[in-house]
Amino acid sequence: MKNQIDVCKLCKKDSNLKMSHVLPRFLGTYLKNTSATGFLTAVDENGNPSRSQDLYKRRLLCGQCESVLNEAETFFAEKVFYPFKKDKLQSIPVDDRLGRFAVSVSLRALWIMQIVEHPLIKRWKDQLVELENEWRNYLLKEPNFVKGSHSHHILLCNEALLAVGLKNSPNLIHSVLRTSAYYLFEKFEKAYVFANLAGVQIISMIHPSDLPVSRGTEVYPNQTFGVQAPPGIGWGGYYQNLLELAEKCDAAKGRLSVAQREMIERSLAKAPERAAMSEDGRIYQMQQELLHSIRDEP
Ligand SMILES: [Zn+2]
Repeated sequence: MKNQIDVCKLCKKDSNLKMSHVLPRFLGTYLKNTSATGFLTAVDENGNPSRSQDLYKRRLLCGQCESVLNEAETFFAEKVFYPFKKDKLQSIPVDDRLGRFAVSVSLRALWIMQIVEHPLIKRWKDQLVELENEWRNYLLKEPNFVKGSHSHHILLCNEALLAVGLKNSPNLIHSVLRTSAYYLFEKFEKAYVFANLAGVQIISMIHPSDLPVSRGTEVYPNQTFGVQAPPGIGWGGYYQNLLELAEKCDAAKGRLSVAQREMIERSLAKAPERAAMSEDGRIYQMQQELLHSIRDEP
């Protein structure tokens, strides 16, 4: 394959760029390994979900920058993501790599949105230029780095939190816990970069600088994550966002191509026990039971 010399998005040096995952690679592996069908649902930068076998990739970084980000990614996967998913997360380490992980996910999402010239990028351009510089200097540990005031959060979203919205959005739990997505969310003059990693979510504030009514979720510039318990997420904009994400996932099912639909049906027919035993199947089952109990309420 032809070498692609281009400017690395992080260090801005000319280099032979690698194919980078926009969302961490461990997420794709997790979603695939726990799926009923061997496929995962990924929402692209325009908010369109589709079924695929891998997460979205793009040439963004040089080898050195890629490994800088991989360090924080591996730490997060081992210390937070997998323990949380296996219900074994007892304590969350206070560690700079958590902040670095969150910032790197949002920064990659931001770059993709810039590349596709998303309309919201233009609308928030002035703020984003400043934030991008700060985030880059933070990740590269530049000597001239100055800590900003915009907060970054990691939210561990579980079925109990999502069950509240099930009445309005019957597929909410499955849609949030079984998908990957990244985009800019804007509502009521508030905006943030958002990533959903199968229910583990990264929020990087654009405006205002703080995520209101959120305790124990911040990873940068301060770290309260894992120190104050329990995390509280009472902000309307957050839940509105999740309901909209679920709506998009529901709509996408109707738009699957015939070929994709057949592929999924074939893999279900080939391994029905895998589907039934999978995490995918468990979450779907649990959602149906919750729905029944809500409907049976007097
Ligand atoms: Zn680089």
